[in-house]
Amino acid sequence: MDDCIFCKIIREEIPSQRVLEDGEFIAIRDIAPKAPVHVLVMPREHLASLDEIGRWDGGRAEKLLHFTVAVAEAAGVRESGYRVIINVGPDAGQEVDHLHLHVLGGERLGGLA
Ligand code: AMP
Repeated sequence: MDDCIFCKIIREEIPSQRVLEDGEFIAIRDIAPKAPVHVLVMPREHLASLDEIGRWDGGRAEKLLHFTVAVAEAAGVRESGYRVIINVGPDAGQEVDHLHLHVLGGERLGGLA
């Protein structure tokens, strides 16, 4: 997508701090971290949100979850624990319309769930 900020990051038109990447997914540090560790995991392919995941076969979604665990390991929070959040749509406060998973950790997290 031409005007998607995360697509621009994936194409390296906008700089980012990459934590992990492979042929299908990348993980970058959030520019405004809400916890000591705050990493965004996203597919290289543009999906507007989790709501479009039906376009994928099940194997790809499973790979995304395995990649997310690898990101937690790379970010140093796999043992201490971490939270994975996906905002979908306006009521969830989704700001960027490119599917991404927040990986938060590095301290004891408060919050809703
Ligand atoms: P969401 O509200 O779930 O759409 O989350 C979007 C996230 O993207 C927010 O936590 C922002 O801080 C983050 N963000 C926006 N622009 C950038 C950027 N250029 N690099 C890294 N993170 C970004």
